[in-house]
Amino acid sequence: MALSSPGGFETVIGLEVHAQLKTRSKMFCSCRADYQSAPPNSAVCPVCLGMPGSLPVVNRKAVEHTIATGLALNCRIAHLTKFDRKNYPYPDLMKGYQISQYDMPIASDGSLEIEIDGGKLPVGVTRVHLEEDVAKLQHVREPDGELYSLVDVNRSGVPLMEIVSCPDLRSPEQARRYLTTLRAILQCLDVTTGSMEEGSFRCDANVSIRPAGSQDLMTRAEVKNMNSFRSVFNALTYEVERQKALVSDGGRVVQETRGWVEERGVTVSQRTKEHAHDYRYFPEPDIPELVLNAPWVEEIRAALPELPARRRDRFAAQYGLPVADAGLLTARKATADFFEEALASKGAGDAPTDRRAKALSNWLLGDVARLLNVGRLTIEESKLKPRHLSELVDLIESGTLSSTLAKTVLQNSFETGRPPSRIAQDDGWALITDSNLVEESVRQAISQNAKAVDDYLRGKETAAKFLVGQVMRITKGKANPAVVIDLVERQLGALQKHNGRV
Ligand code: ZN
Ligand code: MN
Repeated sequence: MALSSPGGFETVIGLEVHAQLKTRSKMFCSCRADYQSAPPNSAVCPVCLGMPGSLPVVNRKAVEHTIATGLALNCRIAHLTKFDRKNYPYPDLMKGYQISQYDMPIASDGSLEIEIDGGKLPVGVTRVHLEEDVAKLQHVREPDGELYSLVDVNRSGVPLMEIVSCPDLRSPEQARRYLTTLRAILQCLDVTTGSMEEGSFRCDANVSIRPAGSQDLMTRAEVKNMNSFRSVFNALTYEVERQKALVSDGGRVVQETRGWVEERGVTVSQRTKEHAHDYRYFPEPDIPELVLNAPWVEEIRAALPELPARRRDRFAAQYGLPVADAGLLTARKATADFFEEALASKGAGDAPTDRRAKALSNWLLGDVARLLNVGRLTIEESKLKPRHLSELVDLIESGTLSSTLAKTVLQNSFETGRPPSRIAQDDGWALITDSNLVEESVRQAISQNAKAVDDYLRGKETAAKFLVGQVMRITKGKANPAVVIDLVERQLGALQKHNGRV
């Protein structure tokens, strides 16, 4: 591609994230907020239907979630905040305006540190404010070609938190990392479910390019309609290339809103500047200004959980885990909590903490993660309890289970919720450590495999391994391997002596 800018182009991306907040009721009324599980248009009232004369009341929990988010993102929390009306006509907006925040957001001037390419990049957070979600439209095309739209007002008035970043991101990969880091923080704070698929975590991106080295902000396009991290990455990659090609051909980027079309892998123009909204913001007259007093803010700060990046560093330092593993364990708060609870749950035959930590981490990131994935479950939804995994690790440590048998026991515990010790005992999975029983199997293996024995006696030491394998087969894998190796070597040694070859 011929570049009109000799040094090439630099990508400039800023992100706006909308996160639905986890509250029991909606933002300005007492309707239930879990609209997804309610029949269409059942979780509604005059306030969220936008009836004239109805009055909004602010949801305290939503304000607290936004303050917590602001604090976690190193923002300044406003002492005084207010709500404003953002006016635009669209059928999903019941009142004809959205109650949002214009010039006095709850939180502003923060930053979020992302880790990328082995380094750390601080990304500015312009503001975090509170608003309400809109109703949901479903566009229908009947087989006879008739077109119409259905409206479900359940989502109208659900608390929505908007987080706006500075245009500090320089690549689609950085944008994706910012989003995953941000979502992990919000989920750790337990303020949102953070599901992009369900629309509780949505992202719009402002994208522009400029000659490398320039500090100017050029005309940008806003990209919408991305409903997964992968879509964001693909849409931004496409949009950046589109702008580069356009400018290289002597064209100009125009200010517009573009929608990502997943099936075609392209962004298409939806609305140009001439059709941009004039929102005519003005203060919401039905809601008084809100004072966020210092004791309240400090109370929320004191209750903040340990955030993922810090917890990862602590896991690595305290438990001697590789940073990458610690990062995976702490990506979700529930997984990190499960790990620490399992580690704290002491059984008999405990290994040193570092060794137990490594073993628990390996099981969690390996077999448990696989089982969760197959069952499409989260760790908190599964029947496996921290003390169960702790037990499993102890059973291996004490030699009661081989790691192969432990996999089977884990799967059973995962499916039934029974403790591994009981499964091992009741279902006969525990290793046979009774050397009389194992000795009998060794004798059997030796008498059935004359050739291997002969090979061994002629100096082929690998033949002993074969015999160990045969014993494991005879005992259906339940013999303690250490005991088997010991006995096979002893019986072969006795034969060797007998043959006078020692
Ligand atoms: Zn309502
Ligand atoms: Mn918004």
